[in-house]
Amino acid sequence: MEGSVEIEKFTSESELELTLRPDSWDDYIGQEQLKKNLGVFIKAAKKRAESLDHVLFYGPPGLGKTTLGLIIASEMNTNIKVTAAPMIEKSGDLAAILTNLDEGDILFIDEIHRLSPAVEEILYPAMEDFRLDIIIGSGPAAQTVKIDLPRFTLIGATTRAGMLSNPLRDRFGMNFRLQFYNTEELATIMIKASAKLEKPIERPAALEISRRSRGTPRIALRLLKRVRDFAEVADENSILHERTQYALNELGINDNGFDEMDIRLLQLLVNAKGRAMGLSTLAAALSEDEGTIEDVFEPYLLANGYLERTARGRIATQKTYEVLKFKPLKGQTLFE
Ligand code: ADP
Repeated sequence: MEGSVEIEKFTSESELELTLRPDSWDDYIGQEQLKKNLGVFIKAAKKRAESLDHVLFYGPPGLGKTTLGLIIASEMNTNIKVTAAPMIEKSGDLAAILTNLDEGDILFIDEIHRLSPAVEEILYPAMEDFRLDIIIGSGPAAQTVKIDLPRFTLIGATTRAGMLSNPLRDRFGMNFRLQFYNTEELATIMIKASAKLEKPIERPAALEISRRSRGTPRIALRLLKRVRDFAEVADENSILHERTQYALNELGINDNGFDEMDIRLLQLLVNAKGRAMGLSTLAAALSEDEGTIEDVFEPYLLANGYLERTARGRIATQKTYEVLKFKPLKGQTLFE
């Protein structure tokens, strides 16, 4: 029997992203080590006719955590319910979700680090013993009612593994960190996606977009969609390299793959001329919250050597000065 997919989040997610989501291992590009290991665990669970152990995925947004959840469900031939921690406000909300699961089902919780402590308490026995402990009443008359749950698999996704409480992290049998994609991998993702959109993209054009996508498939696919609009208007049946260059220029997309926020962040560090800036100062200057800077902006800049975290704060690297073409004034040194 084919499993069903129930998705509760993604209010802001475009339809395009849903249609382009790969639904098999073959279409899931990159993350080779992760795929290899996870593939073994899935095979083993299937062989034993058991449900898969609970899995935690972590890494910056847009790298394919939800997609992996959907692929696992299709590989295991089970139903999946996708939700996000902010939607599970009360312990009763989680209890309702859990009691509605069938044997072998997958529950995918995005942003799992945002679960409230009360909701987490419910999750512990559910993950460990497939049991729901519900407290009825309060004070001395309070009673705990235990309800057996079907054996299910919890897949948690988070941008911040460090923010997960230890007891929750310990209850996942496997955890995987997702890596940024290289330009070849992103190009392949776009070539496959553009074929699905029936507007094939030339390889050099796909590589051109890849270099501007911060190693992130979600960004690459978004740019692909915009470039495709330019090709559409120009009445072209495929996405050509020249049209892509033109479109990216028109869109003002920087060729280091930086987006506007990256540039503002790096510019602040470069203007600090080697002095370290604290996270709170950066957050205030950019009008962003600290969590977003740490989870969304910094990982790519750190991974590519544009930023360093020191005990005193963040500093720009030599590479950043070069890329932003910062010319030190006469007599001025770059670093303290
Ligand atoms: P996350 O849950 O980590 O924020 P998603 O799973 O929602 O990321 O992925 C964002 C988009 O990027 C999806 O629509 C999917 O089509 C695409 N995508 C992500 N990873 C891959 C991959 N490895 N291969 C192909 N497409 C991918």
